[in-house]
Amino acid sequence: MSDPFQLARRLQERHQQHLYRQRRLLQSPQQARVQCDGRSVLNFCSNDYLGLANHPQVIAASQRAAERYGFGSGASHLVIGHSAVHHELEERLADWVGCPRALLFSTGYMANVGVISALLERGDTVLQDKLNHASLLDGAQLSRGRLQRYHHNNPGSLQQRLQQATGRVLVATDSVFSMDGDVAPLPDIADLCVQHDAWLMVDDAHGLGVLGKGHGCLAEYGLDSRQVPIYMGTLGKALGSFGAFVAGSADLIEFLIQAARPYIYTTAMPPSVAAASLASVSLLESESWRMEKLQGLISRFTQGAAQLALPLMPSQTAIQPLLVGDSARALQMSDWLLQQGVLVGAIRPPTVPAGSARLRITLTADHSEQEIDLLLGVLGRALQAHPAGDDD
Ligand SMILES: *Cc1c(COP(=O)(O)O)cnc(C)c1O
Repeated sequence: MSDPFQLARRLQERHQQHLYRQRRLLQSPQQARVQCDGRSVLNFCSNDYLGLANHPQVIAASQRAAERYGFGSGASHLVIGHSAVHHELEERLADWVGCPRALLFSTGYMANVGVISALLERGDTVLQDKLNHASLLDGAQLSRGRLQRYHHNNPGSLQQRLQQATGRVLVATDSVFSMDGDVAPLPDIADLCVQHDAWLMVDDAHGLGVLGKGHGCLAEYGLDSRQVPIYMGTLGKALGSFGAFVAGSADLIEFLIQAARPYIYTTAMPPSVAAASLASVSLLESESWRMEKLQGLISRFTQGAAQLALPLMPSQTAIQPLLVGDSARALQMSDWLLQQGVLVGAIRPPTVPAGSARLRITLTADHSEQEIDLLLGVLGRALQAHPAGDDD
């Protein structure tokens, strides 16, 4: 068979550059200790920050909804797939975020692509943080507008771009950066947007359910829905479910229903998935201990890492990257950690900039203090076993 796309060569290149991706086989529920590739390991790479993915109430809610509504949604939302449980979830999410309305999307990727490609017309501009999630950047590529990136978490750089931007302007940023764990200076960014009559879109995939005290989502950042006209949250991370939503004004939501292609041209998520998300929202609202426990574990980890002088990147969130630099070394360390029974992902380019490969450690409320201490010890030994500059 001919290979006009030269796949074999391109795969080989990825191997040589230590950029080849391989999937591990998960053979248990998503939780702190998982069965992975046939062995029991401690899991420090999941986004299930509150340990809800395997919560009995979440599972039971999805089972009850499946009994009542069946499994498949059968159609897109605009045809006949928009069930009462989807609708109830949208209303609940809008209330929770503190916005007039919310709209469910099947995934966060689709929500980001949908919003940006629907809003921007030819001549408009979207300004994005350099380290934004791929789905925000892809949304810009699929839109008719112009994409400009500003320096990471740098309001001065944003201001410069705002002064030069043409057409209507949308500014989009992650709240918590997915590969770094740091938090955007949202109040400063929001002020700049107001001054320049630009709209701000915040992707809160890694902040929702993790940051703050359960005030409602925008309030955790000291913001309201006038400062952040477009809020995007995901349901597959701290909520332990699947899907995503956009919250904002009634006009925004009605416009997205008319114009967001990843909303219109896809099957609605199964009603049982929406029901699971509803159960998770209830758990988040009624039981703040998971968030508090997670914050305690994050402090324990960052303090312990400082004592051991581990090269952690500055983060107060559940994402705690350990900077390694070289892709080969990151992979070797991740393999070595797995042999010690600790699962941590090696994140390499193009997901992160060249030369900044890292171990992306994520903590969850399902971990124990003992497991955090064990992780610290094994990370210290991993660094000793893999000194920098010894790779090739
Ligand atoms: C995970 C993630 C998304 C995509 O959400 P999915 O529901 O997984 O498609 C979007 N933005 C950010 C910052 C994310 O981390």
